[in-house]
Amino acid sequence: MNTKIVKIQSKGAPFSAEEEDAFRLAGEILKSGGLVAFPTETVYGLGGDGLNKESVRKIYAAKGRPQDNPLIIHISHLKDIALIVKDCPKAARRAAESFWPGPLTMILPKTDMVPYEVTGGLDTVAVRFPSHPVARKLIECGGGYVAAPSANLSGRPSPTTAKYVVEDMNGRVDMIVDGGDGDIGLESTIVDMTVSPPRILRPGFITKEMLEQALGEVDIDETIIKPDSGQAPKAPGMKYRHYAPRGELTIVEGPSQDVIAYMNEAAAADRASGEKTGIIGTSHFLASYCADVVKCVGNREEEETIARNLFTVLREFDDDGVTRIYSESFDSQGLGQAIMNRLLKAAGHKVIKL
Ligand code: AMP
Ligand code: MG
Repeated sequence: MNTKIVKIQSKGAPFSAEEEDAFRLAGEILKSGGLVAFPTETVYGLGGDGLNKESVRKIYAAKGRPQDNPLIIHISHLKDIALIVKDCPKAARRAAESFWPGPLTMILPKTDMVPYEVTGGLDTVAVRFPSHPVARKLIECGGGYVAAPSANLSGRPSPTTAKYVVEDMNGRVDMIVDGGDGDIGLESTIVDMTVSPPRILRPGFITKEMLEQALGEVDIDETIIKPDSGQAPKAPGMKYRHYAPRGELTIVEGPSQDVIAYMNEAAAADRASGEKTGIIGTSHFLASYCADVVKCVGNREEEETIARNLFTVLREFDDDGVTRIYSESFDSQGLGQAIMNRLLKAAGHKVIKL
């Protein structure tokens, strides 16, 4: 398949005449069952018509994604939810008022309009109303209901820049819209609104604390924080390994001086046995690390920067051919919870506690 790559430089309306043409073409592709990758405020999405079974099958095929891992349907107007959601509880309406458009996905009971292909056979549907102007316009042009998982091959880190979308999806989709770098860098927070209290199934930029402020009590799925709790995951996708770089990633947790000493020794030993080594550190400790490639993921005090950089840093280690990676650990509170959730999955839960 020949993939058309277009750039949208405007950050919002008004778009240039060429950009309007690109949106029109993207809309036609989506409406006729094709696939378009596009930027959102979280990560790049791989979009297809969410109400069309054939498009949905193509999304799974392009990503190599297991069929029981359901997709999120993206809308561009709040009122559009009525066609795909059977009934919207009060808490969901309140959450929509507080966090939409934005990086929040809600699980709600689906109507018959939503094919089971998109929900992995479930009677619920995941819905998000993104804030990114390019995403919103594209959804509108594409008919209003765009199913879009992250635009990476299944299991790889989600793409936060168009370069990595092209790397994974060139030749597999009809069009890639390059809209620059994502703001947030981590996928949306997913909350199950069919239970009371609402339950977080995937942590993200909208934290538990923020949700509680708007909704009162909110639960968090045990398996997010304790992967070995023995519980079956509630969101089907939670059981799969995710976000992994090609190199083997290990998280090292403990007092900073011990972490630095451990990582430097481990990297030296790995290098002696022929591995190319990498370290993911925060700015304050960066000068103390010694490995083939040392990357700064941000400043510990600025978790938003760490969130934005994490997937890019993981991908950059692949670009550099690094085979063994060690990373500092992060606080499991607030946004740190989302950061640690992704890092733990990327590491296949390999953690050294000092
Ligand atoms: P991704 O497309 O990679 O951002 O992942 C979307 C996530 O949403 C998947 O991991 C799913 O498990 C979750 N999800 C989507 N639909 C549902 C649903 N109806 N019930 C529970 N989780 C869902
Ligand atoms: Mg994904």
